Amino acid sequence: MDRPVDDVSLVFDVDDTDPLAKLTSPSGAEVAAPPDRPRMAGGFGPLMTWAADSDGRLLDIDDRIARFTGRSREECLDKNLLDAVHVDDRQGLRQAWRRAKRSGTPFDYEVRVEAADGRFYWHRTRAFPEPGAGDEPTWCGVMEDIHAQPIPDKPIGRALQYDHLTGVLGRAAFLAKLHAVVQHCINTDGTLSLVLVDLDQFAAINDRLGHKAGDEVLRQVARRLEDIVGTNTTVGRVGGDKFGVIVPGEIGDGASCAARIEGAFDRDFALKRGSVSVGASIGMAGYPRDAENGEALFKCAGLALNSVRAGLGPGHGFNGPARNRQQIRMAAVSVIRNALDQGLVHPYYQPKVSLATGEIMGFEALLRWEHARYGIQPAQSVVDAFDDPELATALDDHMFKRIAQDIKSWRRDGIRFGRVAFNISPVRFRHGKLAQKITRQILREGLSPHDLELEITEDVLIGRDVTDTAADLQSLSDSGLNIALDDFGTGFASLVHLKHFRIDALKIDRSFVQNLGDPRNSAIVDAILHMGRKLSIATVAEGVESEAQAKQLRRRGCDLAQGYLFAQAMPKDEVDRYLAGRKPVKA
Ligand code: C2E
Ligand code: CA
Ligand code: CA
Repeated sequence: MDRPVDDVSLVFDVDDTDPLAKLTSPSGAEVAAPPDRPRMAGGFGPLMTWAADSDGRLLDIDDRIARFTGRSREECLDKNLLDAVHVDDRQGLRQAWRRAKRSGTPFDYEVRVEAADGRFYWHRTRAFPEPGAGDEPTWCGVMEDIHAQPIPDKPIGRALQYDHLTGVLGRAAFLAKLHAVVQHCINTDGTLSLVLVDLDQFAAINDRLGHKAGDEVLRQVARRLEDIVGTNTTVGRVGGDKFGVIVPGEIGDGASCAARIEGAFDRDFALKRGSVSVGASIGMAGYPRDAENGEALFKCAGLALNSVRAGLGPGHGFNGPARNRQQIRMAAVSVIRNALDQGLVHPYYQPKVSLATGEIMGFEALLRWEHARYGIQPAQSVVDAFDDPELATALDDHMFKRIAQDIKSWRRDGIRFGRVAFNISPVRFRHGKLAQKITRQILREGLSPHDLELEITEDVLIGRDVTDTAADLQSLSDSGLNIALDDFGTGFASLVHLKHFRIDALKIDRSFVQNLGDPRNSAIVDAILHMGRKLSIATVAEGVESEAQAKQLRRRGCDLAQGYLFAQAMPKDEVDRYLAGRKPVKA
């Protein structure tokens, strides 16, 4: 949307007391005024205004929507309008909207909307398309309460609370429940455990057997979890293939529940055709032993889960978060050290795509390691190892050698696609002569600096040795290597240093990309993009997952994008197939 979002609430020339007031668009055009119609029980309630993109993602809402739904503006923005609508009305609304999109005319449809009290109220929803700067219009809408009473005999708030697929609590409701139960324990000196269950290799089940089979497995897992746990225990689906269980009582109760859950995966899952064996990793944390509030408890159980996934032993029964953190760090170091020794560390490549043309402009090499039981693991699972100077150097050297081999093979085969970016650990800047080392490595491997791009985070630009670092980067840049600032916008040091040496690319951190609907976030993104243009620095958006994000970024003038929308990181032979079979993707 090119208009500042704050303007949207001015779009409607209406006031609360006169619901039949004329609607005008910002361009002054009149839009379908509500026809004269009999008032329903309770009369017309207040009008609430919203703006959304063509997919229904909310770009702005007025305070009345926030008050009505009991959610803050921040919670609503970026969510889909349809999420607040009763499940039974979603399809109809979607169809009405689709028809309106096709014809470019307003739509007018009645739906049930969930209120703060968890009940649904009938609302008449009308919206009209308002041309924006890009291809897609912004939809400016108004919602009108046409039913003063909540709708009786409907399951209360079920649509939003429960996960449609599995019938257990959805993520938001589960976290709200966790928060409430912890609060209750705080007030009553109680204890509880949180168990997180993550299915192993679930993506492979989807790939191999199809999404229907994957869905069926998730449904059955939910049933087994519900069967195992006691009546006062809560089960929720907290991620695609991740479940959470809140177990009130002593930590021992949590541990025995975790053990029962482990046992539940001993049996295969029956499918329409045959059956499948599914493994799971389990992490557990307890209040007050490991954390003092719901959020910290969730994080702590997540850490325990990561340590299990990284093959670091059972994730339940550890002693306190501080020790656990230290243990995880040490274990991460030893796990990845072993993987390195056994030749199980590989570069995977994620494409960077031009938002204007859809062309592939290069790849970023990301570290992956193989776990004997759990398969390929992301770098994130061992990031702690990058803080260990010796191991970080060994990993970076290994990655560099493997990347060099791959680049030479692509060159031999005449495959060209711009530069390959590689990451190096910030700790390596502390030990001096980094520029020399990298330049020598490039020469030794028979590459040109023009084949490569170095990604560094802003962290390396703060601290004592920043003059040495700047000198290192300057000399690398002089040699023809591109330098990209990673996770841009999350650190402190950025702006000052942009003038000390040449930066070729700014990588806008994923957190900004995923919250483009938040005006403060999008203002930062616009500022980064503007600065990039002024200083002739390419801008790359990280973590682009949806068409809507890609469109917005393109509209705002971002050059390149990287993210699951285009492709996940893949091994070299898959890159070859990907490049061979690919038509340009246009955002
Ligand atoms: P990074 O450099 O910011 O890398 C981006 C991370 O985001 C990668 O995680 C990537 O797989 C993930 N990602 C990419 N697209 C999406 C998306 O659309 N959605 C989401 N949610 N995530 C996306 P990964 O591979 O686990 O790497 C984590 C971090 O580990 C990297 O962050 C980087 O700082 C570090 N790292 C990775 N490989 C290396 C390496 O070879 N050497 C060093 N020193 N660090 C590395
Ligand atoms: Ca990176
Ligand atoms: Ca990054």
